[in-house]
Order: sequence, then structure tokens, then C-alpha cells
Amino acid sequence: MTDHPATPPPEAQPEAPPEAPPEAQPVPQPLSGDAGAAGDRTDLAGQPGDAVDEAPPPYGALLRVQDLDTAVSQLEHRRETMPERAALKEVETTLASLSARESVLGAEGVLLSQRLAELERELEASAGRRAAIERRMMEAGLAARDLQAMDAEVHHLEQRRSEIEDQQLAVMEDQEPVEAELAVMDADRGRLEAAAAELRVAIAAAGTAIGAEVSALQLARGVAAGEVPAELLDRYETLRRHLGGTGAARLIGNRCDGCHLELPSVEVERVRRLPADALVTCDQCGRILVRTTGPRRS
Ligand SMILES: [Zn+2]
Repeated sequence: MTDHPATPPPEAQPEAPPEAPPEAQPVPQPLSGDAGAAGDRTDLAGQPGDAVDEAPPPYGALLRVQDLDTAVSQLEHRRETMPERAALKEVETTLASLSARESVLGAEGVLLSQRLAELERELEASAGRRAAIERRMMEAGLAARDLQAMDAEVHHLEQRRSEIEDQQLAVMEDQEPVEAELAVMDADRGRLEAAAAELRVAIAAAGTAIGAEVSALQLARGVAAGEVPAELLDRYETLRRHLGGTGAARLIGNRCDGCHLELPSVEVERVRRLPADALVTCDQCGRILVRTTGPRRS
């Protein structure tokens, strides 16, 4: 077998429904312009109309399991990394800092209102006191000295009234920017919450679409896995868990498609001469190495 270097990218291939012939490799179509598909592997095999399995049983089925698992991983990665998630996170972060600032401003606003109420009470008390003194001053027979003292107090109360009114104005001036900022933030909050709701809907919709694709792939995966002996499947699963999601790799020319390293020619010759059902592993990465026979890959 020699190298066939040109392998069509999986994006170019139509998605095979789960009930397609087992030879067909379902390839998920990109949902969007998402560039972050898992590892961007391009080794999903399968060409439309390719009627033969690319490896003898049970390795052909094992490769299908691997390809389907890879496709599922890519979809799950896409689901986790869709740009809307990052956008939502940003909006939520902004909303959180908005809330923090609102709390600070709210507390400030409460203090200013309390201060205003305090001044108002003081003003009323002062006015009451002044009215009482003025009533007394109207009484007959007051000593000149007392009248003078009362007059001085009235004068003092009048001064105090003016001071309190100035303070009230100052507090109201302080209230203005707080209220203005709170109003702006209120508008921002509305806008951000609407954006967040929209993003959540988009994420849910994309998640549902991806979920449907994953279900279809898993169904096909179950069928393919049924053709792989339990022991081999266990070994594959263990390798897959420890080796970044790839437990079975094609031998393409002299290269292991799992670790992408070249095997020594002697080793490749030896491997190629082994019986078709012999289990071969890559010396370099430990993955199950599948000698492909079909036109598809090798
Ligand atoms: Zn390898």
C-alpha cells in the first residue's frame, strides 16, 4: 500500500444519516462559522459511495466507532465553545459590575435622602422654636433685657434657617449625579438583560440542534460498536480516554494517523504481513493501529 496523500476534508462531505449503510461515515456539518472545532481533525474518513469497509472486521467497525466518537467530540466542543457563550459571559460580567455599582450608588442615595430628611426636621424644629419666641415677645410686660435676649435668639434661628437651606441645596446637588447615573444604569441593565436573553435563546437553539446531531451519531456509534468485540472495544475506550480521544488510528503509508509519526519501514512491512485480524498497536503512541485496505484512506 502506498500513500494517497490527498484526503478530502470532512467538511466537503455530506452528512450521512444514522441509518445509512455502515460504510458511510457521518460527518457533522459546521453549524456556523465556528473555527474552534475539536482539534480540527480532518481524518474523518468516508467518501460518498465508498462501498467497502476500509479495514477487515472488526477493525473497519472500530474505525467507524472512532470516527463517530471524534465527530461527537467535535460537536460537543462546538457546543461548549460557541461564540454566543463567550458573549453571554461578557454580558453577565457587565451586569454583575453594574449591580455592584448600583448597590454603591443606591447606598449613597439612601444616605443623601436621610440627610435631607434630617435637615428638614431641623428646619421644622427651628421654625417652631422661632414662632414660640415671637409669640412670647408679643406678651406685655416683658423686661427689656428679656426682649433683647429673645430678639438675639430669633436672629440666631434665622441664621440657622439660612444655613440649613444651603445644606439642603448642597445635598440635592449631590443627589443629582447619583440619580442620573442610576437612570443610565437602569437603561443599560434593560439593554443588557435583553441581550443576555437573546443569547440564551441562541445557545439553547444551537444546543438543541447539536444535541440532535450528537444523538444521531451516537445511534450510529452504537450500531458500529456492536460489531466490535467487547475486549477490543474496552481497549479502545481505555486508550481513547488517555490519549486525547483517539484510541484507534489508521496506518497511512508509513505514518500512524494517531501520533502522526512515521514508523520504520521494516516495522511497517512486518505489520502489513500480519494476519488481517491481528491486533496491532503503534509503538510510539500505543494506539490501536488499523491497516486500511480500502481506497478510502491508505
Ligand atoms: Zn501512533
